Amino acid sequence: MNDRPPIVLNGIAASPGFAAGPLCRLDTALASYAPKATRAEEIEALVGAIAAASAAVAELIARADGESADILEFQLAMLADDSLAEPALAAIGQGEDAASAWTRALDNEIAGYEASGDDYFRARSADLTDIRDRVLRVLTGAESGAVPAGAILAGEDIAPTRFLETDWSAGGGIALSAGSSASHVAMLARSRGVPMVVGLGDALSALAGEVLLDAKAGTLTGFAAPADIVRHRAAAAAFAAARSSAAAYLSKPARTADGTPVLAYVNVADPSDVEAIDVTTCDGVGLMRTEFLFSRGLPDEETQYRAYRKVLEWAQGKPVTIRTVDAGGDKPVPGFTVAEGNPFLGLRGIRLSLSRPDIFRVQIRALLRAAVHGTLKVMFPMIAVASEYERAKAMFAEEALALSALGTVHRMPPLGIMVEVPSVAIAPEAFSDVAFFSIGSNDLTQYVMAAARDNASVAALNDTSHPAVLRLIREVADFGAARGISVSLCGDAGGDPALIPHLLEAGLRELSASPAQLAAAKAAIAGVML
Ligand code: PEP
Ligand code: MG
Repeated sequence: MNDRPPIVLNGIAASPGFAAGPLCRLDTALASYAPKATRAEEIEALVGAIAAASAAVAELIARADGESADILEFQLAMLADDSLAEPALAAIGQGEDAASAWTRALDNEIAGYEASGDDYFRARSADLTDIRDRVLRVLTGAESGAVPAGAILAGEDIAPTRFLETDWSAGGGIALSAGSSASHVAMLARSRGVPMVVGLGDALSALAGEVLLDAKAGTLTGFAAPADIVRHRAAAAAFAAARSSAAAYLSKPARTADGTPVLAYVNVADPSDVEAIDVTTCDGVGLMRTEFLFSRGLPDEETQYRAYRKVLEWAQGKPVTIRTVDAGGDKPVPGFTVAEGNPFLGLRGIRLSLSRPDIFRVQIRALLRAAVHGTLKVMFPMIAVASEYERAKAMFAEEALALSALGTVHRMPPLGIMVEVPSVAIAPEAFSDVAFFSIGSNDLTQYVMAAARDNASVAALNDTSHPAVLRLIREVADFGAARGISVSLCGDAGGDPALIPHLLEAGLRELSASPAQLAAAKAAIAGVML
């Protein structure tokens, strides 16, 4: 019990669910360091902490899959590099304690990376921050065991590695003052069913103790009154009951209450995502986001080919729609994207790929080669005008010719486009020759409503059920039906039980949802009478 009035913070729900537990700060490691008696002990503490952090990363690598392992391999290499610790060891020699010497040394290093004009190096600063904090957690005794089971991890943002090493089996959740619902951690949280709220603002630092996370409404409540706790428990129980009754729908084909079949696909990011999905529960992959492959630098053709082939083979002949890299916006890619004042309206998606044919052609070749291993469809993100589609299509044809000349086995997949820029949804007749349309409701909503998808203060405006957005979705569905072009939807709305009735009423019959939302999506479809 407490006698403080409750504090309710509003943010953006990035992964649905409920959690109640102690708030565990991700960013307070330094405060609790107890300095040692001698310089030799400080040095021993730092060297030991680096060794322990390396061992922990190595252990994580052994358990990690696919791209997650690549992120960790880079960190292990950094930790093994003696030059990283040299300035800190020198500062300890001058009388500084291990924690502040390490923090200062790494902060300098991070500032250098951040100041670099090169995106690749700028993005590496996130890895360095992760390394800095990992060693600090060991130094301050905050490593692993200090995170109580079922805790709500709170901070400005959370590193993917921190997410991967946390044991979520006892519940818990994530509450971030900043963060983005489109980040890779948010995708990991959604696919593993970990509740997460982002954009809670600086007031997050005012909360402490037991908190209530409502990652359906996007709130975090501190100093809760007994009535808040009762309400939260009831909402959590209703959510859990809905989730478990939805589970019964997972193995069945998706059908509305009146028997209309609906194709239910899954969205994947990391190719390893498919390992946890039973292919018989879905109709294929509606969207494979390839940005994850690019998040540690530019992947070569072989790496991409293997990743696409893995998903195609997993699908056992069911269609797999792979999207060419949608870098830019809120998804910077080291060595590829450029710094921009307004990145959501800038050089993003197909615009960026067309401006860097050297990078785009590598992906095109990998896709053409992988196509022989299943039923591949390829789509382009952020198409605004028909010439972008025509240019990308021409590049596919050129690369196919080049592969033929080399005698390399390949196949031309059907080429479609994302409908996420309003110009396409308003005037789809410019795209009568595409193989298919896939509506990106996340971006379509943010551009129609002029409300950024990662800005908590305009979250209420970022509403896919607004009549303006639904009208465009209906018009695209009608246009596709009239021209015989299939129209699916792969934005988050496709897995949202509250929005699914609107989408089906608008005429859509193909939806793609994140794996964790597939059962609930099928249950929601079953409740719709058309
Ligand atoms: C979308 O915009 O709805 C979409 C599916 O693409 P992303 O979320 O990756 O931008
Ligand atoms: Mg999009």
